[in-house]
Amino acid sequence: MKVLVTGGAGYIGSHTVLSLLENNYDVVVYDNLCNSSVESLRRVEKLTGKSVKFIQGDICSKDDLTKVFNQFNIDAVIHFAALKAVGESAEIPLSYYQNNVHGTVCLLEVMQQQKVHNFIFSSSATVYGEESDVPYVETMKLGTPSSPYGASKVMVERVLADTANANKEFRGVSLRYFNPIGAHESGAIGEDPKGIPNNLLPYVAQVAVGKRDKLSIFGDDYPTQDGSCERDYLHVMDLAQGHVAALNWLNRNDEFRGVEAFNLGTGNGISVFAIVKAFEKAINKTIPFDVSPRRAGDLPAFWANASKANKELNWQATRSLEQMMADTWHWQSNNPNGYLV
Ligand code: NAD
Ligand code: UDP
Repeated sequence: MKVLVTGGAGYIGSHTVLSLLENNYDVVVYDNLCNSSVESLRRVEKLTGKSVKFIQGDICSKDDLTKVFNQFNIDAVIHFAALKAVGESAEIPLSYYQNNVHGTVCLLEVMQQQKVHNFIFSSSATVYGEESDVPYVETMKLGTPSSPYGASKVMVERVLADTANANKEFRGVSLRYFNPIGAHESGAIGEDPKGIPNNLLPYVAQVAVGKRDKLSIFGDDYPTQDGSCERDYLHVMDLAQGHVAALNWLNRNDEFRGVEAFNLGTGNGISVFAIVKAFEKAINKTIPFDVSPRRAGDLPAFWANASKANKELNWQATRSLEQMMADTWHWQSNNPNGYLV
């Protein structure tokens, strides 16, 4: 089976490409490299001993996408390509809607023309918005996330629902990720943010390696056990395997038509202080930090109810917090400058 992976050179994409190859799927990666390096794929090739077809292109170009579908016999699409920085999305919302919403619509249009109906979408826990109670369950209504980034994910889920209503052949899966962290156990691929990291783990790892002086913990006065925010952190290789599980599920369920959402998380909330402690333990070194004001838009705590993915996809996050920390450090210490050699 041949899978087109948009955004496959990025953080989650590259780990998923590795898992797909290990599970004997054929992969074509389509990425404009706006937030990644093709070096990630070269390393995936070394790790797997298999080759990855790579096409540099933008999902907003229907012409270029059409050429790819004409060149390769694509059976399914896994769609990672998107801009993902929550803060930046409030500064340049139109770029986010253009890239994440319009880009996805272009991709779906070309898929429809090409009669390719299997589609797996990178959605996010952010679609539940602040009005939902925790843990989040797929039966909850889509919320109204405060950021344009979050709104773009809700909009695409709506686009998918309408597409499935109109196109009776459509077979869509929305995977709602919680907080992916960590890296492949080899330490050869991992998260390589450009500039100052927005997310917690890359920031902590850069402090540990000496690239940043100290971590700022955004708020210690939340109504949580230790006052810092709680999130559901899952290992990126568990998440990668969630995509293989979703593809296998589509393959098993020939008769399935429509669109189905699955939470991918561990089901546990971990605080920022607990993350810092776990990282310190993994590297046997202290992480300097201070407590800063709350970050705008942060919710106090959320985690997944992941029993639907467990039951239907046969998927469960199995890697421990210790392993997430150790693998993050392995990647960061081997590659202090990411993919820049
Ligand atoms: P990433 O930035 O590492 O990967 C995204 C990839 O898409 C990059 O390689 C980038 O170059 C590419 N891309 C962006 N716009 C493109 C375009 N117009 N055309 C072609 N390629 C384009 O991000 P990631 O962390 O791997 O995230 C992958 C997906 O998962 C995104 O859709 C993101 O919104 C979603 N997601 C991520 C997280 C997270 O915490 N990392 C959580 C929930 C959902
Ligand atoms: N966080 C922090 N300092 C940082 C980055 C993040 O204290 O430098 C906190 C943030 O407030 C949130 C948690 O870490 O409570 C996870 O943030 P991240 O941006 O990684 O994920 P998301 O906000 O998408 O859940």
